[in-house]
Formats: sequence, structure tokens, C-alpha cells
Amino acid sequence: MPFEIVIGLEVHAQLSTGSKIFCSCSTEFGAPPNTHVCPVCMGLPGVLPVLNKKVVDYAIRMGIATNCTISQHSVFARKNYFYPDLPKGYQISQYEEPLCENGSIEIEMDGHLKRIGITRIHIEEDAGKSVHAEEFVSKNETLVDLNRCGVPLIEIVSEPDMRSPREAYLYLSALKQILAYLEISDCNMEEGSLRCDANVSLRLTGAKALGVKTEVKNMNSFHGVEKALEYEIERQKEILLKEGKITQQTMLWNAREGKIVPMRSKEEAHDYRYFPEPDLVPVDVDRKWVDDIAHELPELPLQRKRRFIRQYSLPDYDAAVLTVSRHLANFYEESVKLYNDTKKLSNWVMGEMLRFLGERKLEIQDSLITPQNLVGLLQLVDRGTINTGTAKSIFDEMAETGKAPQKIVEEKGLAQVSDASELDAIVVEVIEAHPNELEKYRAGKENLISFFMGQVMKATRGKANPKLVNELLRKKLAEKRG
Ligand code: ADP
Ligand code: MG
Ligand code: ZN
Repeated sequence: MPFEIVIGLEVHAQLSTGSKIFCSCSTEFGAPPNTHVCPVCMGLPGVLPVLNKKVVDYAIRMGIATNCTISQHSVFARKNYFYPDLPKGYQISQYEEPLCENGSIEIEMDGHLKRIGITRIHIEEDAGKSVHAEEFVSKNETLVDLNRCGVPLIEIVSEPDMRSPREAYLYLSALKQILAYLEISDCNMEEGSLRCDANVSLRLTGAKALGVKTEVKNMNSFHGVEKALEYEIERQKEILLKEGKITQQTMLWNAREGKIVPMRSKEEAHDYRYFPEPDLVPVDVDRKWVDDIAHELPELPLQRKRRFIRQYSLPDYDAAVLTVSRHLANFYEESVKLYNDTKKLSNWVMGEMLRFLGERKLEIQDSLITPQNLVGLLQLVDRGTINTGTAKSIFDEMAETGKAPQKIVEEKGLAQVSDASELDAIVVEVIEAHPNELEKYRAGKENLISFFMGQVMKATRGKANPKLVNELLRKKLAEKRG
């Protein structure tokens, strides 16, 4: 392909504050329509917005985590447009002086690190929702739900630094992971907590100037973004190869049909008639505010992953899986304090534990699995109390009930018989009960040891310590021979 792909993303993340950005209404998702509203968020005349400080805190957290400069002075602006679910006729956003600027994050692509620039992160309010669904209204009606009006958002605008749909996907995943680590957004895609508009253009390989871009909207999954971009890139390529010109426009991605359709040609920025919001004072952020937040920031996903590789000698893959979420990483680190075979522990967390959580659709923090119990289970195996098969078979009960593994083993009588004198007696009994086999064994049919082994296991209902039985059998049979 003679073209280079250029992608820049605009990501809206809903902040997980309890109340809205300019009033005290709840941000709870899924409440009956128009129950979380007040004169401020309904845009009634004569009311004044009051900024929720937590929104600024959260946005600063994201700004620091993405290496942005936090502006000491930022202002709100009115972005004017008409939409039925925007009762004020404008959205309060930030325009010329956003809260955070000039940052970047790193993404990992095939083992290489790549820096993606963040142009800006600004604060804004969400609009309401128009409901067209036929389950609620008849075909030609639309209803408006204002519950979402005034829910706080940050918009994270990237530089046009991505060069493939795959990079866009990795960038989005990295952003989401950071938001989740910072605990400032629940990142729930289905509920619209994370939305992405993708800008894409092509230019001749080696060219400096950017090509004309289109913007693809309406994507509710990261794989959707990747697919939509692939589709749009093909479309642009075909046009350019026929020496046609790309029209700058906004496109809609139809995930069900896997198709892109034009929505509208791109309005110019000044169409919005931005102007400073007269009802709100500027946000002045002093050094101490930023320092205090920086001080409380958790270790970020990529750093934590690298530390896991170093500190616990884990493969890259393990470290990536274990640091997918902060809770999982915490779980692993608490377990490692109690157990020093870091790789065996990782195998159990990635294997049995993630299988269990996946099947139950649970997050680790919502389950009854504790580091003490998981480690307890591994120690039972190490001490020879149970074998690995038994450990796996009681994992689910332990995870479901929160019961200590030791207790489950006792209740179910699953402990291995490792008592030498007890096993010795059984071994003798078994040998004496099978004189024919003993005869053959003595005549040289040594593989009959597994026959005796099986008989001892049967006599102990599978609980005998196999290693010990083997030793005892060999000893006794050798005596008989000699
Ligand atoms: P707009 O005014 O259309 O929103 P911006 O300049 O604010 O455009 O950029 C919006 C997003 O589009 C940013 O993420 C930016 O990196 C990206 N972008 C800008 N120009 C291009 C281009 N020619 N090709 C691909 N992405 C672009
Ligand atoms: Mg835009
Ligand atoms: Zn309100």
C-alpha cells in the first residue's frame, strides 16, 4: 500500500462521581427516566451551576497519569448546538484553556513500546438521551430521558500518532486500564461510560502533511473501533487509488452490518460559537492540589507489569495477565507474601482462579477467594496432605464458600494417607492376598508392581500417597524375593 495510516482518537470517559458535575443529582445508571433531574441539569432558566470539586480531582488524576501538564488556570466554555436531549441549548465544556495538555502514554506492540501523544484532557458535562427504541415508543416517536444530563465526563484527545487499527485498539485498552487503576471511571462500555470517536486519514508514505480525515462515531467496543477503522481505511484507499478526493465528514459505524455510512459533513469548530461560560468561575489549581493528588496516585499498569517481571521473575505474559486489574494484581501480591514459588502461584491464579471467575462472571474483589485460602491449598499439596488432582477438585468449593481448604479436606476425608505404618500394613495385606502375582513377580515380571500399586490404592480409596506406596511396595517385594 502506497499510503500511511494516520489515526487520532477522542475518548469520552464518564467519571464515577456519585453526583453530577454542576448539581447534586445522582449519576446512578438505569434509574427510571427523568428521576435524577433538577432545575440545574434540566436547564431551567434562572439557575446557576456549581462545580463538583471531585470532578476536577479525577480529571487531574488522569492528567498526571498520562504525563500531562496540569493548567493552573482553566476555564469552562459553552459549546452551542441544538439537540432535543440538550435542554440548555449548549454543553458546558472546555475549549481554549483545558485542564490538562501535552501528555502521552506508552503502549506495547509486539514487545516494543510506543509513545502516543495526548493533546488535551478536558472536563465537560454529558447530554441526555433520546430514546427511539420501539419497546418504549411507537415507530414515529422519540422520548427524552434527562437523567444523564450533567453527568461528568472527561474527553481525552490524542495526537494523530497511531499508525494502524491495532495500535488504536491497544491505545484504547491502555487508556481503559489506566482509568480503572485510578478508580475514576467504571469503564463500562455497555452503559456508555467509555465512548470513542476515531479520526482517520491516509497520506502517501513519506509525506509530511496530514491527509483529509473522516471521523467514525458510534462504536461501543474496542474491537468495534478496530473493525470500523479497517473498513474506513479500505474505503478511503479505494477512493484515493482512483485519484478521488476524501470528503471530510462524520461517519456512522453499523456494527450489526459491519458497514460505515456517512452521517454529516464535518461542521467547522466555530459553528459551535464557543465562548467562556459566564456562570462559572475559572478553575485555579495550585501546586499543592496537584502534588497531593500525585502523591496518592497508585502504581500504573505498565509500571506494575514491569515490576512484576523483575521482582517475581515472571514471564511477560504472566505479568500482563496478573496486572490486568488493580484488584487482581493486589491479590497476587498479597498471596506472594505468603508463598514464595511465584511462578506456581501465577499458574494457579491464571489457571484455576481466572477460570472460576470467568465461569461465574465475577471480579476477584466480588468473590470469596482469599490469598490465605489459595496459598493454604497450595501448601496442602506441598506438604503431601493432598495431591494436585484433589486440590483442583476442591478449588471451586473453596472459592464458592470461602471455606478454608484444610476444612474441606477434613470434612470430606480427602487427606492422603501418608502414614508409613498404616500403609505398610496395607501393603503386606495386599501382597499376601495375591500369592500368584507375587510368584510371577519373583519370577521376573517386575511390571506387576503397578498391579500391587493399584490394589493398595483401591484399598485406601485413592487416598494413599502414591510415592510412599511405591517405596513401600518395592521394599517389601524385594524382601520377599531375597
Ligand atoms: P476536530 O476539530 O475535527 O475535532 P481536531 O483537530 O480537534 O479535529 O482533532 C480531533 C482528533 O482527530 C484528534 O485526536 C486528532 O489527533 C485527530 N486528527 C486530526 N487531524 C487528523 C488527520 N488528518 N488524520 C487523522 N487524525 C487526525
Ligand atoms: Mg472532534
Ligand atoms: Zn440536577
